[in-house]
Amino acid sequence: MITRSPALLQRSDNGDKGHNSCGQHEAKETPSSDGTTLLATPPSWQAQLTGAIRDPRELCRRLGLDERWLPGAEAGHGLFEVRVPEAFLARMRPEDPDDPLLRQVLPLGEESRPTPGYVADPLEEAAHTPAKGLIHKYSGRVLLIASPACAVNCRYCFRRHFPYAENSPSMAQWEATLDTLRDDTTIHEAILSGGDPLAASDRRLAWLVERLGEIPHLRRLRIHTRLPVVIPQRIDDALLAWLGGTRLQKVMVLHINHANEIDDGVIAACARLREAGVTLLNQSVLLRGVNDSIEALAALSERLFEAGILPYYLHVLDPVAGAAHFDVAGRRGPRTGRGPCGGAAGVPDAAAGQGDPRRGEQDTAIAPS
Ligand code: SF4
Repeated sequence: MITRSPALLQRSDNGDKGHNSCGQHEAKETPSSDGTTLLATPPSWQAQLTGAIRDPRELCRRLGLDERWLPGAEAGHGLFEVRVPEAFLARMRPEDPDDPLLRQVLPLGEESRPTPGYVADPLEEAAHTPAKGLIHKYSGRVLLIASPACAVNCRYCFRRHFPYAENSPSMAQWEATLDTLRDDTTIHEAILSGGDPLAASDRRLAWLVERLGEIPHLRRLRIHTRLPVVIPQRIDDALLAWLGGTRLQKVMVLHINHANEIDDGVIAACARLREAGVTLLNQSVLLRGVNDSIEALAALSERLFEAGILPYYLHVLDPVAGAAHFDVAGRRGPRTGRGPCGGAAGVPDAAAGQGDPRRGEQDTAIAPS
């Protein structure tokens, strides 16, 4: 017997499991003490954030990976910690080390191998950080580090060595940054970045966005985030209240690299964002063994359009130390300073369309190391 509780997702008594294909987003049946079956409300996004897998052994165990992957996973984890939320894990194929989502988050021993040209700060952001949490690299826009944390740790992230501890402003420092923006009338766009800016609380984000909206020459708010993809429940009423309420033009740049990342939960979250007047764009990184084929990129574009997201950038990998194994060798184009969730991206001067990323011309297999 199924007992409905008021806060639950809909589930019909004829066994309909709801509209989400990802089990993570479905109501779960929980046996109760009286023998009935309760439907458990899915965990809040905050609970999913704190409950993310942070142990390489656990990641390997949950996906049924061979023990041979463990030493490499633990070595890579020592350099940049594992973080994988359950909702993202649920979209991976068990027992498949080649799964394109897993490859983005599974640490490998290769990460500790020094590679010439691969450095800690490939975009030289340290030279463009005039104040804590403020990166000003391009004219007309600034980037604010709104949160040091991410929902998922992507192994290729160009900010994997970023000194977040030195870039977490106090309230007084935020005020000083806002004064700087107010005094510089050439700035028309503020980019919230991180980490993942949506890992910050709604209270903090509402405050920051309201203050930005008070600066008359600011026209646009851009948010670079992966959270609506990896934990779609992040797009809730509280977020839509502050985001929908700002006078600023709203652009959200998502970061999706493979079609399998877009499940029904992501599509529903995107629909809510569009209803709130948010323009949705996507940036991807060309990653060896993840999306380095015409077929994978075409499928990604199709799926993005289905979700109402416009493909915006396809970046070549930034040469960050620890990520060389993701490079699609010999296919690099010009690097201009942009990147995953946190990139200070500009107009399409990056890597869009570089080379011919056909898979099969090189060995893309990975092995435990
Ligand atoms: S900033 Fe974006 S790309 Fe980097 S680890 Fe966080 S979610 Fe991944």
